[in-house]
Amino acid sequence: MPAESQSPTTHTFKAEVKQLLHILAHSLYRERDIFLRELISNASDALTRMQFEILTNRDVLDPDAELAIHIETPETTGDEPKKLVIKDSGIGMTRDELEQNLGTIAQSGAREFISRIGSGQLDPGDMIGQFGVGFYSVFMIADEVRVVSRSYHRDAAPVAWISDGGDQYRIEPADKTDRGTEIHITLKPDAAEFAQAWKLRQVIKKHSAFVRFPIYIGAERANQQTSLWRKNPSEVSTEDYINFYKQLTLDFEEPLATIHFSSDAPVNVRALLFIPAHREKNILSTRREPGLLLYSHNVLIQEYSTELLPKWLSFIDGVVDSEDLPLNVSRETVQNNTIMRGLAKTIRGRVLREFKNISENDTAKYEKFWDEYGRAFREAIATDLEAQEQVLPLLRYVSSGSDGKLVSLDEYIKQMPEGQQDIYYVLGDDLKSVANSPHLDPFRARDLQVLYWVDPLDALLAPQMNEYQGKKFRNVDDAELDLPESKPEEKSDAETETPEYDFNVLLSRVTTILGDRVVDVRASKVLQDSPVRLVSPQNDPERERGRLSRYFDKNYQVPKKIIELNRSHPLIHDLAQKLRDDPNSELVDLTIEQLYDSALVQEGLHPNPAEMLPRIQKLMTLAVSNK
Ligand code: ADP
Ligand code: MG
Repeated sequence: MPAESQSPTTHTFKAEVKQLLHILAHSLYRERDIFLRELISNASDALTRMQFEILTNRDVLDPDAELAIHIETPETTGDEPKKLVIKDSGIGMTRDELEQNLGTIAQSGAREFISRIGSGQLDPGDMIGQFGVGFYSVFMIADEVRVVSRSYHRDAAPVAWISDGGDQYRIEPADKTDRGTEIHITLKPDAAEFAQAWKLRQVIKKHSAFVRFPIYIGAERANQQTSLWRKNPSEVSTEDYINFYKQLTLDFEEPLATIHFSSDAPVNVRALLFIPAHREKNILSTRREPGLLLYSHNVLIQEYSTELLPKWLSFIDGVVDSEDLPLNVSRETVQNNTIMRGLAKTIRGRVLREFKNISENDTAKYEKFWDEYGRAFREAIATDLEAQEQVLPLLRYVSSGSDGKLVSLDEYIKQMPEGQQDIYYVLGDDLKSVANSPHLDPFRARDLQVLYWVDPLDALLAPQMNEYQGKKFRNVDDAELDLPESKPEEKSDAETETPEYDFNVLLSRVTTILGDRVVDVRASKVLQDSPVRLVSPQNDPERERGRLSRYFDKNYQVPKKIIELNRSHPLIHDLAQKLRDDPNSELVDLTIEQLYDSALVQEGLHPNPAEMLPRIQKLMTLAVSNK
């Protein structure tokens, strides 16, 4: 052992740790008993890592030691401060690891969060109580902390880490013969209650009841180690589910839904799954990676199992237990296991069924769910062919006739009037702009509803949305749409109908001005309230994706469309008249340019609407001066 690593050394905490310690020391927390949850959760992590290590490596210190957590409250006398010790037989830490783990904050998200609190941008009062604050939370109740640890590596020396929560900590050699970590806490006088067994038991019951390893207070067990997922759902209370979820994830919100089921065929499985209330986890959550806890015969065999659910369902948290899986499986065998495939199929089916259940029985909850996870469903359509059939009925959109409410495809089909063959959708950037889309004119005239597809992913998915219940999905900008007969009111009013000759002159002027920016200029058969619209030429492969590339392609080219003019619109009527009266009118040319640009904006295809401003100003000048 080199001499340096045996002598005591003094270190300064990293800046963000100092900030955190400062906050912890100077704020009042109602919930400071969470320190125990944090220390127990660290002990449990260290035990889990040890458990996995032993599966493949018996050459460790104390290979047969019980994997457990021991809490002791050493006797003290008179005025002596009260003490508390938390011990585990986990993986332990070497000198370097102590310095690395208990001198810095590893997670960049947490670091960022703390430095924002430190600089006053965030209010710790609001935030910190909701998050776990890790090991350092011990300084809410400690005047001094001494961590004594011995790594599982046989040749590692025991070391101690000592701090009073100030700017510095010390590392020095220690005496410890067995494997694991001990946290020796000198309690603050106002935290003396944590030296009492009943108090500790109460806190463990509240925050750590589902820890997988035995927790002893003195000689007595303090947790039941119940495997909630192995119980019959009728024996489990809602409160148990919520507590289990919170302890599993450290999420401070209740889950949106709980899915608890078991089955024996085709595979044996017991599962307890949760849909979190929010997609974004809090930054200090314990479940940082997606994946489920995978057990076999009640023994944890994988901590983040990602093979059990398709990627788009990775927001689901929980536990899966199967007696069909061999106990000593390695990561590779888990991956290529037919039982795993059977499990995955069962779980996915069950989860999708639950979504369907919620959608049919609890609209309010389903809307919350859709709001949070609608993106995931779009991802499913794009990436998971197998899921399409099950996912399509779960989709929800606002439609032109739904008054802002979400409708399902089934509801849409149900209200279709006789003669409507297809499901119509309009793509756009947001609900407001699609509601004003000129493409809706003919649909309004016929009382046909159109689904609003306004998520950027909708455009990407459109080519894959072929049909539902035998009805084809059709984009309303399709030039060749074959709509049912319209109501008679559609016939235009003779007063605004542009004379044919004048209209043709206008069409050729538009052709000259727009040149090859458009593929055709023609009269519209369907427009009512709008002067012009852009429609897609048939078989244009880029028609849906074009609008997306505007977001990420710096060489974005405006796609070429067909421009249709509404012969009965007053603006077109007056424009044609103006052109007849003054064939060199600048106002006419500017107006044609502006009509085209406005239509591009309307379609969500304009590369940079600000470019229109000089022209708009010129048009305003001409309008105001009445020339
Ligand atoms: P987190 O648990 O979120 O990583 P903590 O602040 O709680 O953050 O702990 C920091 C690190 O210290 C842990 O990641 C772990 O590496 C180490 N550590 C803490 N307690 C123990 C322990 N009882 N045994 C082994 N390592 C520990
Ligand atoms: Mg921790």
